[in-house]
Amino acid sequence: MTKTIDLKSSDHFPLSAKQKDWLNKASEFASQVSVDSIIEADQNNIFPYPLFEKACQAGFGSLPFKPGYGGQDGDYVSFALVNEVMARKSIPIMSSLGVHVLCQEPIYSFGTLSQKEKYLIPSACGKFLGAFGLTEPMAGSDTANIQTQAKPVDNGYLLNGSKVFITSGASAHYYIVMARLNINTAESAPKDTITAFIVDSHSNGLSIGQKFDMLGMRGYSTCELVFSDCFVPVNNLLGLPYQGRKVALSALAKGRITIASQAVGWAYGALDAVNAYFNRHPQSLKKSHYEQIGKLVSLSLSAKVKTLEAARLVDSGNLSVKDSSIAKWHATDIAMQIASEAMNIIGLHSQDKQLLLEKIYRDAKAGQIYEGTNQIQRMLVGKYLNSPSI
Ligand SMILES: Cc1cc2nc3c(=O)[nH]c(=O)nc-3n(C[C@H](O)[C@H](O)[C@H](O)COP(=O)(O)OP(=O)(O)OC[C@H]3O[C@@H](n4cnc5c(N)ncnc54)[C@H](O)[C@@H]3O)c2cc1C
Repeated sequence: MTKTIDLKSSDHFPLSAKQKDWLNKASEFASQVSVDSIIEADQNNIFPYPLFEKACQAGFGSLPFKPGYGGQDGDYVSFALVNEVMARKSIPIMSSLGVHVLCQEPIYSFGTLSQKEKYLIPSACGKFLGAFGLTEPMAGSDTANIQTQAKPVDNGYLLNGSKVFITSGASAHYYIVMARLNINTAESAPKDTITAFIVDSHSNGLSIGQKFDMLGMRGYSTCELVFSDCFVPVNNLLGLPYQGRKVALSALAKGRITIASQAVGWAYGALDAVNAYFNRHPQSLKKSHYEQIGKLVSLSLSAKVKTLEAARLVDSGNLSVKDSSIAKWHATDIAMQIASEAMNIIGLHSQDKQLLLEKIYRDAKAGQIYEGTNQIQRMLVGKYLNSPSI
C-alpha cells in the first residue's frame, strides 16, 4: 500500500503557458513563506504588510487587470490559481489580496482618469492597500438596509455611519464605501440611493472603531470604520450618484470566484495535512482510509472545476453572477466538509498547529459567511433559475 495520496494527479487542467507561469510563480512565493510565520500572524492577529507588498511586487495584487495602471495583463483563471496556492497554506495575506483586487475592479470599470492614476498605480506595487466597506451592523445580507449617509456639502460630501467586519480595515490606505446619497430632493431621488465613494484612510472624520478578534481569518486587520462628518471630496464619488449597487455587484460577482478559489486551496490544504500526518504515522494508515480520502479528493476536484469554469466565463467576457454564486457556495461548503473530515481522520493530532489544518478549518468557516453567506447565494441562484432575466 502506498503511504501517501497523490494530490497532483487530479490537477490536470488545460492551462495556457501564461497561466502556468502564474501558477509556478505563486507556488514559488508560497514555498518561501514559513509555517511558523503563518502561525505567528494568526496567533498575534497582526497583518504582515511586508509580505503583502512582496506579493504585489510579484504582480499578484494587480494580476487580472490590463496594463496601463500597473495591471499585469493576466486573467481570472490565473488569479484563481494564485489564490488557491496561497490558501492551500492559508498564507495570511490571501484574503487581503482578494479584497485588494475587489477594490480595484470598480475603479477600473467606473473610475475617472484621475482616480485611476491616484489609486491604481500605487495599488499595483503594494504601496496602497484597498478595503471594501459594505457591511453595517444592521446591513449584512440585507444590503438594502444600509444606513450610512452621504450629505452633499461644498466641494464634496459628509459621511456619517459605520461599517463593520472590514477586511484590511486598519491597514488600508483607501476604502470603497457604499452610502446613501441624501440629496434632499425627495421627489427626484430614486428608491435606491446607494452610492459608491472612495474614502482615503487619512480623511478627517474617519476613525478605526472596534478591532475584531475572530475565530478564523485572523491577522487581516479586520475592524469597524466610523464616519463622523467624514469629508469626501467631490472627485471621490465613484461612478454616478445612486449607482452604488451596480458598482458593488460588478466587483462582488468576481470576488466570489476569488473566495471559491481560496476554498479550493483550503480543501487541498486539508488533504495535504492528511498526507503529512500519514507520512509521519504510516502505521495509522488503514485500507478504509483510501476510500474515505478518495471521496474527499473528488470533492476538491469538483470545487476546482466549478471555480475555474466561473473564472473562465469572466475571462471570456461572459461574467455570470449565477455561476460565481454557485462556485462560492459549492467550494466553501466543500472546503468546510473536507477540513472537518480531515480532522476526523487524523484525530487528536489534527490540532497540531504545524499541520495548518486547524487554521484552515477556522478560515473555511469564515469563507461560508463572507461576501454573502452561502444561504443567500443559494437563494440568489434559486431566484435566477426561476427568472433568468434578473
Ligand atoms: C472574516 C470576514 C471578513 C469580512 N470582510 C468584509 C469586508 O471586507 N467588507 C464588508 O463589507 N463585509 C465584510 N464581512 C461581512 C460579511 O460580508 C457579512 O458577514 C455577510 O454578508 C453576512 O452578513 P451578517 O454577518 O450580518 O449576517 P446576517 O445577514 O445577519 O445573516 C445571518 C444569518 O441569516 C441568514 N439570512 C439572512 N437573511 C436571510 C434571508 N432573507 N433568507 C434566509 N436567510 C437569511 C444568513 O444566511 C445567515 O445565515 C466579513 C465577514 C467575515 C466573517
